[in-house]
Amino acid sequence: MSAANVLMAPMIGVESRVVGGVRMDVVPVGTGRVKRVIYEPGFKWSTQMKPVVGTDLCMHAHVGFLAAGSIAIAYADGCTRTFTAPQVVDVEPGHDGWVVGDTPAVLIEFDFLGETAARFGLPDAHRH
Ligand SMILES: [Zn+2]
Repeated sequence: MSAANVLMAPMIGVESRVVGGVRMDVVPVGTGRVKRVIYEPGFKWSTQMKPVVGTDLCMHAHVGFLAAGSIAIAYADGCTRTFTAPQVVDVEPGHDGWVVGDTPAVLIEFDFLGETAARFGLPDAHRH
């Protein structure tokens, strides 16, 4: 398989689910989790996840490695950031996000459920 195909291939030993059109393959590790998250082109959090999650913005911190594609995020104060693979991702809680371009974005993410920001020493919200 090519590197691109391997990135998207089915994994064994994972808990898989699709939420709001986002495919997540999750493996618990200690008190944390390692995830492969695949966002399809056209995905936008406020359109597809907000109705499922019920908060105005995504309140999770995201830390990981963007292995394919490009994503953009916008914080409540209007600040935006764009990540394009290969790039490390660090996003504070309180943001919208969407896929840029017409290819899937593949994010390898590390989280500690509701404690991700605290465990990584990140702020609990975007501020200046
Ligand atoms: Zn800002």
